[in-house]
Amino acid sequence: MIQQRLASLRKLMATHSLDAVVVTKPENRRYFSGFTGSSGLLLIGEQIQTLFTDFRYIEQATKQSPEYQIVRHGTAMFDKLADTVKKLEAVRIGFESDFITWDTYHKLATCLSMVELRPVNLDALRVIKDQAELSLLHQAVEIADVAFNHVVTIIRPGITELEIALELEYQMRKLGSEKPAFDTIVASGYRGALPHGQASAKIIEVGDFITMDFGAVYQGYHSDMTRTVVAGKATSKQHEIYNIVQAAQLAGIKAVAAGKTGKEIDQVARKIIADAGYGEYFGHALGHGVGLAIHEEPRLSTINDSELASGMVVSVEPGIYLPEWGGVRIEDLVVVSAAGCTVLTTSNKNLIELT
Ligand code: ZN
Ligand code: ZN
Repeated sequence: MIQQRLASLRKLMATHSLDAVVVTKPENRRYFSGFTGSSGLLLIGEQIQTLFTDFRYIEQATKQSPEYQIVRHGTAMFDKLADTVKKLEAVRIGFESDFITWDTYHKLATCLSMVELRPVNLDALRVIKDQAELSLLHQAVEIADVAFNHVVTIIRPGITELEIALELEYQMRKLGSEKPAFDTIVASGYRGALPHGQASAKIIEVGDFITMDFGAVYQGYHSDMTRTVVAGKATSKQHEIYNIVQAAQLAGIKAVAAGKTGKEIDQVARKIIADAGYGEYFGHALGHGVGLAIHEEPRLSTINDSELASGMVVSVEPGIYLPEWGGVRIEDLVVVSAAGCTVLTTSNKNLIELT
């Protein structure tokens, strides 16, 4: 698996005329080496792959990255890197310009002054998931589904958004999640108009819409789902808004297929909301890729003209947010295929009235 990933990385190096790349982004470090420590960098050349890390991680790195030569560095990580680079007689080395800070870049450039540094983006190599990754993503999704099915049994007027978030996170941890995939969103009543309203001390009141957006992390892979439920009986306006979002979500899922552009798919869902008169209240993209990062390529958005391919995993998450009234969002994760897509999220998405 690691060998396959290194082979595609070396292909990319060849197309960019790079003799080596320095990998610093944690997701990419993990993807190309298997190493899960919080500190370290990879130097990958035509013939070599070296993992530089510190004292704390030597044993772990040796176990997790048997394909790599492990080099322990002290305080001068880039000096150690420079020693290895010199032996390579490299001319051009790629670095992750979208991740490295300005300060780090200058340190790197000073230590590697004998080579030309070129920006390179390695994220595209992670967009198509292999079977092992799909299985981990599936498990992360399942953990969130089970937690959701539990949390709907405890939601009632009088408890706070924070209590709901805590319960979701507690259940997910019990089911094997390493941590929440991101700060859990619970936005109820008027707060539902905030698409990314983090759980607050607000108390759930009768009639509130409650939007919960959360996910698990399983062996590094994230899940991401959103459900909106109502505390009590829904009003006709709540039914109206919910039905529009649900129709847009279902149409969005139906539109997903290899060969379609992110823009085309976004457009299908967006049109349904716009035709119903709420276009200006759906102000974000329809979806995003999910994997070792919670938000990654590809985007289902009005500006993505590139085509989806089989094995990509994306969210489909339209919403309507009405200031002072509240909001609805429904989000599932799907795996793109030639025929369309497979929906990973299994939780009910008809309107749940908690009475
Ligand atoms: Zn989400
Ligand atoms: Zn999402």
